[in-house]
Amino acid sequence: MSYGGIEAGGTKWVCAIGTGPDELRDVVTFPTTTPEETIGRAAEFFSQNGKVAALGIGSFGPVDLHRGLITTTPKPGWANTDVVGALRDALEVPVVFDTDVNAAAVGEQRWGAALGLDTFCYITVGTGIGGGVMAGNELVHGLVHPEIGHMLIRHDRERDPFDGVCPFHGDCFEGLASGGAVRARWGKPGEELGGDPRVWELEAQYLAHGVVNVVCATSPELVILGGGVMKQLSLLPLVRKHVDALLAGYVTAPPIVSPALGDRAGVLGAIELAHRAVA
Ligand code: ZN
Repeated sequence: MSYGGIEAGGTKWVCAIGTGPDELRDVVTFPTTTPEETIGRAAEFFSQNGKVAALGIGSFGPVDLHRGLITTTPKPGWANTDVVGALRDALEVPVVFDTDVNAAAVGEQRWGAALGLDTFCYITVGTGIGGGVMAGNELVHGLVHPEIGHMLIRHDRERDPFDGVCPFHGDCFEGLASGGAVRARWGKPGEELGGDPRVWELEAQYLAHGVVNVVCATSPELVILGGGVMKQLSLLPLVRKHVDALLAGYVTAPPIVSPALGDRAGVLGAIELAHRAVA
């Protein structure tokens, strides 16, 4: 039995059919354009490549998990898009819907860095920042879902007068530490900034604030830090150092690691969400 998975991102969608990392039968990636065109391409891919037992979707957000909608996104044309309804009608299979980062957490738990753990956190630091939380072997859903990227952190205004890029909050965690913030603060994207220690010391300090808040609020056994910004290899050890300093021995920091599934965590997690829905 095969399952379908979609990593529905704000810039691209990855669709795959299979049962796991060693058995991905078909994978396709295409840009996120209008909802009609993008959802239509996904529906066409799944209907042309054989029947799946269920479909899992890990979506950019914010999302309404009960109604299957992408809700208040600033992405033009996508506010209040009924992703689940459209795909369920097209494919006539059960559809499971969660955030992209919750899906990635599930992938890492099934096959990756969080194997065997039931309480951990997956944070992605890319254009924005998102985080998925698994607690007691359940993904955390509630009022909406965790919005780790919009936690408030200490803004070091003396060293960093930059106002932040979050359109809602300015200098929240995402506003100060996302890839978008790095680009706006320093005038070019992280991958063009080389090893400049000013850039990565400040970045590590902000990321550590976010990680410490998550550690104190959710008590994870592991924190996975993924996303494009984390491809700067000097960053992870610096984040660990700052987390230890900020926790000051009050709580011992959990291991802070890279995702074992790399860029495939989201789509594989979506496949696993589909599997769990019908298993
Ligand atoms: Zn914000």
